[in-house]
Amino acid sequence: MVALRAGAATHVGQVRTNNQDSHLAADPLYAVADGMGGAAAGEVASALAIEALSNGFHRSGEPSADLLIHAAQAANRAVWDEAAANPEMRGMGTTLVAIALVDGPELAIINIGDSRLYVLHDHELRQITFDHNLVAEMVAEGRITPAEAEVHPRRNIMTRALGVEPEVAIDLFVEEPVPGDRYLLCSDGLPREVHDGLITSLLERFSDPAEAARELVDEANRRGGGDNITVVVVDIVDQADDATLAANELTVAGDATTAPAAPGGPAPALLEAVRDADTTGGEAPSDQPPDQPAEPAPATWRLPNRPTRSVLTGRVVGFVLLFLIIVIGAAAGVVWYARSSYFVGLKGSQIVIYQGRPGGVLGINPTLRRTTAYSTSDVLDSAVPVLRAGKEEASLTDAENYVQSLHNAYQESQQNAAPPTTTPTSSTTVSPTTTVAATTPATAAPVTTAAQP
Ligand code: MG
Repeated sequence: MVALRAGAATHVGQVRTNNQDSHLAADPLYAVADGMGGAAAGEVASALAIEALSNGFHRSGEPSADLLIHAAQAANRAVWDEAAANPEMRGMGTTLVAIALVDGPELAIINIGDSRLYVLHDHELRQITFDHNLVAEMVAEGRITPAEAEVHPRRNIMTRALGVEPEVAIDLFVEEPVPGDRYLLCSDGLPREVHDGLITSLLERFSDPAEAARELVDEANRRGGGDNITVVVVDIVDQADDATLAANELTVAGDATTAPAAPGGPAPALLEAVRDADTTGGEAPSDQPPDQPAEPAPATWRLPNRPTRSVLTGRVVGFVLLFLIIVIGAAAGVVWYARSSYFVGLKGSQIVIYQGRPGGVLGINPTLRRTTAYSTSDVLDSAVPVLRAGKEEASLTDAENYVQSLHNAYQESQQNAAPPTTTPTSSTTVSPTTTVAATTPATAAPVTTAAQP
């Protein structure tokens, strides 16, 4: 049986005046949120999201990935509703990345925005989540390199965030909990300063998760601390082997004031003072003291311009259903086209009627419907190549009439070729085609077999 053992740390950083990050450690659920918005909006958004996520997840039911998704949707609604009710909060939003040990046991991971979740497995660090920002999409599309992305002027433009629309698409990932694996949740203040190699070595050097979290935050501060930094380190442990595991073992370090998480209780969201920034992005505040480094541009929102991966939401299910409907409709259309026509052809020297198209359509072959009483010796020689290629008709009756017309034309030619008699016929003035239409509209070709009724 596996369990989680965690430690966390947060810091305002060296440039910003307020910490708009919040985080949660309420076993078995851990999360990081990085709020954005003018006035107090950023910290309100991240705190509201964390609180709603915790309440939704812990309120009822067995822990499951679905429960985590629903809790995240409730968090989105909580931020959206608060923004709608308070004009000064309009436009606020937050990232949200979370991991929970759920039934299975499995690790359910959700992500919205550009906070990140990594796993350290067998000395290798792997980012599980995908950043929902413009430069990450440009890298994914091959338009810029990861190195260019790190210094790109538009790297603050988000393409997805929690609380900025009534519904939000949520990325879901499911991982097997392997004892010894270490998961890292962080706001973007960490990877902006500390590269993956150094993150890996620090995670491996400090076995205690709280100490590892604190060291990572300290390292980001030493390297500039250009943004708020929040780190949660979650270890997968074998419960039987972990004698020290206790319900509220989480330790929080850093400059935030917090209390250990109470089981099932409200999230210990960490709130700092408000960052005085707007949501339009761009410039640092103009009243920044000249001897202080300028605050980085705050993040701004932009609607995603392409679908993202691993999205398990109602919207995606709708797209899948629509796709299936289109595929099934197209297949039905092909079958209808292939089967809605008849043609007169040859089977050996016998004149027959098929249902379908000559040669078939996309593997749907014609089927034999009638074997007429006529063979190639009962029609004009000039008709044989047409029959060999297949003469299409709209219906079975039309096909039978066509066969009859061929035979009538043949009989007329025979009569015309015969010596004159005392009773000349009048058919010499009538074309074969006209004769059939005028004299035998309802006369079907003699039928000897019906291969398919
Ligand atoms: Mg940030």
